[in-house]
Amino acid sequence: MWQLCNNALPVKANIAARLRGVDCSCPRCHFEAESCVHVLRDCGWNDDVWEGVGLDVQGMVGGGNVREWVELLIRDMGEKERVMFMTTCWVIWEQRSKMVFDGRGWSCEAIVRRVMDISWEMQCCQEDKAGAARERGVCGRSFGGWVRPGAGVWKINVDAGVKKGLGVGMGAVCRDEQGGVAWAVAVQEEGGRDVAMTEAEALYLGLKEARRLGLRNIIIESDCLIVVTDLQKNKKGRSDICLIYDDIFRISLFFESVVFTYTSRLSNSLAHKVAHAVPWSIGRQFWTDDLPLFFVNIAALDLSNI
Ligand SMILES: [Zn+2]
Repeated sequence: MWQLCNNALPVKANIAARLRGVDCSCPRCHFEAESCVHVLRDCGWNDDVWEGVGLDVQGMVGGGNVREWVELLIRDMGEKERVMFMTTCWVIWEQRSKMVFDGRGWSCEAIVRRVMDISWEMQCCQEDKAGAARERGVCGRSFGGWVRPGAGVWKINVDAGVKKGLGVGMGAVCRDEQGGVAWAVAVQEEGGRDVAMTEAEALYLGLKEARRLGLRNIIIESDCLIVVTDLQKNKKGRSDICLIYDDIFRISLFFESVVFTYTSRLSNSLAHKVAHAVPWSIGRQFWTDDLPLFFVNIAALDLSNI
């Protein structure tokens, strides 16, 4: 942050100011010179990142001066937003450098996820000053855990994940107002896919099961911020993920009420475990009364943290 405010980041425009013959254009968009403000705010490659973390950093006048931009912006922010802002700047810069020097790809979804993870951990460490959570190896369990749905509402947590060498797994787990597990479903497939797409598919899987079982009022909870935000905004489009969204919107019409919510990965750990159910078996697995003890224990742990 200090480097940024003093315009001391080694962005191309700064290097070009000192060395002759250096190309100062932005290595991502190639549209403008890569200044500090460009790399973090103006470059179009960041738009989905800022939207994903829920911060509006564009509404600034004058904006060429990086220190002025940061100072004006964080002046009106709360503590959490400030942490989120600084973390996002840091991750954008980190990923931009990996792209330039290591040839890594740019994924807004992955960046948002990383920002959320880091912010979450920082929040955990602040809240848990005694460090007790860290000792138990389950940082964050002490607050903000899984929350029961209201009366007459089913909560379905969904998650997706990649298992190296095996494929992708999607999981959905449905709990009632008491926190009891009604059912869980896992679909494991070969091959790899885009993370956000698989997360959207996991959400669709949860909805399909809920419909099959005739549930009426549901909350569907995912730890994929991009997918949840898109669904909350009724996003339409022609991309592959939007096709899955269309399926989700269509099936949602069959329920009395469907609410899409975002949750932290820690509060979503049961769905995560279901998606990674062992033994890994290609195809669909469904549990109700025969839920493995391992899952029952995680569900109990979720309740003990409320
Ligand atoms: Zn750019």
